[in-house]
Order: sequence, then C-alpha cells, then structure tokens
Amino acid sequence: MIFKYNNIQIELVQGDITKQSDITAIVNAANAELLPGGGVAGAIHRAAGQELEMESHPLAPVKPGEAVITKGYNLANEFVIHCLGPVYGLDKPEDKLLAACYQNALQLADEKNIESIAFPAISTGAFGFPIKLAAEISLKAIREMMDKLKQVKTIRMVLFADHDLDIYAQEAKKVFN
Ligand code: ADP
Repeated sequence: MIFKYNNIQIELVQGDITKQSDITAIVNAANAELLPGGGVAGAIHRAAGQELEMESHPLAPVKPGEAVITKGYNLANEFVIHCLGPVYGLDKPEDKLLAACYQNALQLADEKNIESIAFPAISTGAFGFPIKLAAEISLKAIREMMDKLKQVKTIRMVLFADHDLDIYAQEAKKVFN
C-alpha cells in the first residue's frame, strides 16, 4: 500500500526489516544498551555482524525517544538508525516518546542526506505497545515530519505480521487521505 504526500512516498509492507535491500537506512527497535537482544534488534545485529555491536554499544546508553546512527556493515543497507522506544506503561508520556522516535530518526536521516528509510513497528513487541495505538501515533508523527523533510523521499513501514499490516493500513487511510 502506497500513499504520497509532499513529494514523499510512504509505503506499508509486510516483511522482515533485515530484507529491505533497496533502502538506504533501516531503523532498529533498539534497547538502551544498543546490544543485540531479541526481536528486531537481534535480527538486525545477526544480519549486520559483530562490527555493528562494536560501533553501536559505545554510543549507549540512549534514552527513550532518542535515535543514533551507525553503518550497516553486512546488511544491504548503508546505515542503521537505532531508536529506543518507550516501554508501554512505564516510560511516560509514552505517546510523545514513541512519536519522538520516528521524528528523531527522520530528522537524522534528513541531516545525513538519506533518501529512503524503513521502520519496524517500534515498541509493539517486547515493549508492549498496543499495535493500533502505535500505528496511529507513529503515522501521525511521520505525517507531521513530512512538512520538514528535504532529502528523505521514501518512508517504508515494515510490519512483521499480516494482521499488523491491516491495522497500519486502516490508520494510514485516516492519516494520509
Ligand atoms: P520493542 O522492544 O521495541 O517492542 P521488538 O523487536 O520486540 O521491539 O518488536 C517490535 C515489532 O517488530 C513487533 O511488532 C515485532 O513483531 C516486529 N518484528 C520482530 N522481528 C521483526 C523483523 N525481523 N522485521 C520486522 N519486524 C519485526
């Protein structure tokens, strides 16, 4: 599913964040220590190789909402942007912190002249954010940033489960149409 706004394309796909070979920067749903761990972070570190951890770990700790950038090493992507999402029910205000993840990642991408970026559904796994609420917050945060971006031309949301893609598609119709 594709939407266009302000010369920027937003794509919603089902898939694996480590398999987005046509994208310049992928976003990691990171942990505070910027270590491999499980879920998205585990998959990205496995695919990138140990050099990723050697670059990322010294940049830790990061706070919820923050984003830092590293190279992509063995990934097909030039960069990884690591974002720490809020733990639902713990890091407050969780809506603003989740929005900040997306906005800080996009800002960083724009500063680095990155034209394409792919996000997983940050905080919706181990961090427990309800998927529908996360979809609404993240798509609105992306939409707000689209007025400010100068370099980023493609923003892809990569949902792991078909059901999650359906939920994001429903929310995207409200936000982008
Ligand atoms: P968090 O700790 O921020 O909640 P997780 O990695 O536990 O991050 O999960 C975030 C979301 O990413 C979940 O919806 C999960 O299903 C999904 N996910 C897990 N592995 C992958 C992957 N390889 N590619 C894309 N999405 C993934």
